[in-house]
Amino acid sequence: MTTTLDAVVLGGGPGGYVCAIRLAQLGLRVACVEQENVGGTCLNWGCIPSKALIAAAHTYERTLHGANIGLRTQHVELDFGVTQTWKNGIVGKLTNGIRQLLKANGVTLVEGTARVVSPRSVDVTTTNSDQHETLHVSRAIVVATGAKTVEIAFMPMDGEKIIGAREAVNLGTVPKRLCVVGGGVIGLELGTVYKKLGSELTIVEALPQLLTGIESDCTQVVERKLKKSGAKVLKNARVVRCDRLDDNSLLVSVQVGATTETIPCDTLLLAVGMRPRGKEIGLEQIGVTVLDNGTIPVDIQGHTNIDGVFAIGDVTGPPFLAHRASKQGEVVAEVIAGHNVSCDWKAIPAAVFTDPEIASVGLTTERAKEAGIDVRVGKFAFAALGRANAMGESDGFIKTLVDVKSHKLVGVHIVGPSASDLIAEAALAIETGITAEALANTIHAHPTLAEGLMESTAHALGRAIHAINR
Ligand code: NAD
Repeated sequence: MTTTLDAVVLGGGPGGYVCAIRLAQLGLRVACVEQENVGGTCLNWGCIPSKALIAAAHTYERTLHGANIGLRTQHVELDFGVTQTWKNGIVGKLTNGIRQLLKANGVTLVEGTARVVSPRSVDVTTTNSDQHETLHVSRAIVVATGAKTVEIAFMPMDGEKIIGAREAVNLGTVPKRLCVVGGGVIGLELGTVYKKLGSELTIVEALPQLLTGIESDCTQVVERKLKKSGAKVLKNARVVRCDRLDDNSLLVSVQVGATTETIPCDTLLLAVGMRPRGKEIGLEQIGVTVLDNGTIPVDIQGHTNIDGVFAIGDVTGPPFLAHRASKQGEVVAEVIAGHNVSCDWKAIPAAVFTDPEIASVGLTTERAKEAGIDVRVGKFAFAALGRANAMGESDGFIKTLVDVKSHKLVGVHIVGPSASDLIAEAALAIETGITAEALANTIHAHPTLAEGLMESTAHALGRAIHAINR
């Protein structure tokens, strides 16, 4: 079958489906091709299922320790099968919602595997019938094929004992002993879930810091709490061997400095990064530049080097963030429709759903220094905030970096309760270029966590009320 359209989007994740919907809103005839389930990694195996499990683990832990606030419970029992069914229900509800949105906006969803055959046509092998369908486009092909888990050659994933994030959110039982290789975002988020649900947890990280790239004073708060909960954290550590024992367990050998440690475990979660999926879809054959690691280079409007072929999201390289992919998707849709817009990356917030959460936007202290920006640092501890104490979650702080010359906020780093929500105000402040005075002068409702950002900004100005100013 041959269909003629204005544009086709390859991939139905947060980059692809958003781009397809926006293209349709702009009046273009568009198809979105997806080989698995709409929503991509984020909705099916990433952001959403992991956040559901994080919420369940958090509730479980708080219930277990309820006696601290006078809630004595006789017998708290985890029925992980029910937890998984609940989580699957959330995923199902949201992915169905995406299907409905695509339909309501007039996007044709093609379920199958796409291969680009020319800058104006895509061949699809349909999932259910194995039929071939050719989609011709008059304007654009948008590649939004995402990224896949990086593997380690000597311990290939088998989906059962050695698993990736995809399997980790779908486990039927809580592993007795879990070893996580990679102390990055996935390793810490999912490691923490299983630690709270009862696993013995070991984290093996190759670098000297967990969550490299994030302000180290923030990551230290998370590391301290993780260790306090009984998790073992090995840094500067590399897995050198992984043996399967007769009882079907694993013995992981880890090089830490000059010594080798062995970690017995039942499940090993591999979380050592992602690799863009720009290869194997025919792009190089039509002349699109694809780097050796699978990244498709694009300009600020999402153009590849071939006219009419665009790329968005994880396939264009890091940061691998759903909201960044969605924004790229919207921008590229506008560009295809003939509008002169581009991606403005002044403020991409990032959130890590550890305990406590970490969220940041703008420059880190190091990047500000590299950029020659002289900053005043404001810091406000959640321990000094009424609401955080009333919630029983007072670990962490809010750090604000204010440009000494312009008084504009250039970076905000939060570790603490609801950091992922609090960062939105900071993103708005940096995106719109408001001054520290404007933020500090804005009345924040009391008692709320958001007061912490106001106080931290005021602290940078030397006028915080609930912290000692320097
Ligand atoms: P990551 O890059 O965050 O972390 C991988 C970690 O593995 C790094 O710290 C790295 O030093 C370490 N590592 C690499 N090789 C190793 C080895 N042989 N032994 C031990 N450690 C090793 O990658 P990830 O955690 O796999 O996540 C993938 C991507 O998905 C990330 O870029 C992340 O941004 C994204 N993601 C984001 C969120 C979120 O926004 N909350 C959640 C999950 C994933």
